[in-house]
Amino acid sequence: MRYAILGTGIVGRTVAERLLSLGHEVVIGTRDPATTLARTEPSTTGAPTAPYAEWQEEHLEVELLPFADAARIGEVLVNATGGRVSIDALNAADAGHLDGKVLIDIANPLDFSQGMPPVLDPANTDSLGELIQRTFPGLRVVKTLNTMTAAVMVDPARVPGEHNVFLSGDDESAKKTVRELLHSFGWPEASVLDLGGIRTARGPEMLLPIWIQLMGHLGHADFNFHVQAAHPKA
Ligand code: NAP
Repeated sequence: MRYAILGTGIVGRTVAERLLSLGHEVVIGTRDPATTLARTEPSTTGAPTAPYAEWQEEHLEVELLPFADAARIGEVLVNATGGRVSIDALNAADAGHLDGKVLIDIANPLDFSQGMPPVLDPANTDSLGELIQRTFPGLRVVKTLNTMTAAVMVDPARVPGEHNVFLSGDDESAKKTVRELLHSFGWPEASVLDLGGIRTARGPEMLLPIWIQLMGHLGHADFNFHVQAAHPKA
């Protein structure tokens, strides 16, 4: 499968490496490849990461392209852009390149503009997953993996014991595609909790405030949520 990952941060790079290890083709989308490759400072948004050019040197098989070219080439798309700018990134990708494609939406709409802790926008009565689906109705949006750190997304065994990953999306076949990908990442069938339509993305996105508090409490990000139910699903 040919994946286009929109986003050059730690999430995009980590997912790209895992997809490559599984034999997939990967391109990465950015606003302007020349600008991204010219950066010499670590990223200041999201988790601090080495300049993209250093990562690129170790992954010469991954082409860095403008968002639109990456989205045109990708058969399955991954949204690993900042949640507050995801609509801008997808607009730059060009709706014509999105139609009919599965978009794995990992982004969280965290607003750091007022400092720490960040706030969520949208939240409560809306979610980024829904906003993307509404704005680009031709996309088949599946929200998943946004409730854990990047390293755990692609290597769940990093956290011992049972723990969960959530799925939200309106398109059942898109969710099946993503579920199979999650299995190939190492997520057992029982760990994947399908919450329902894209409206249910509100819940996983609103887990972010407690996730950030837990990271502060534990002093690291190698943890995840585990739902312990008294009975199997009715
Ligand atoms: P990030 O720093 O949040 O986002 C990087 C990407 O956003 C870059 O590709 C950048 O484009 C793009 N971007 C920034 N401003 C933009 C704008 N105005 N218009 C269009 N695109 C813009 O990267 P990250 O830390 O890897 O996180 C990616 C997403 O995953 C975020 O939504 C985050 O909340 C979510 N997430 C992160 C983690 C984690 O472990 N870090 C865990 C769960 C979920 P350029 O390439 O052009 O600079």
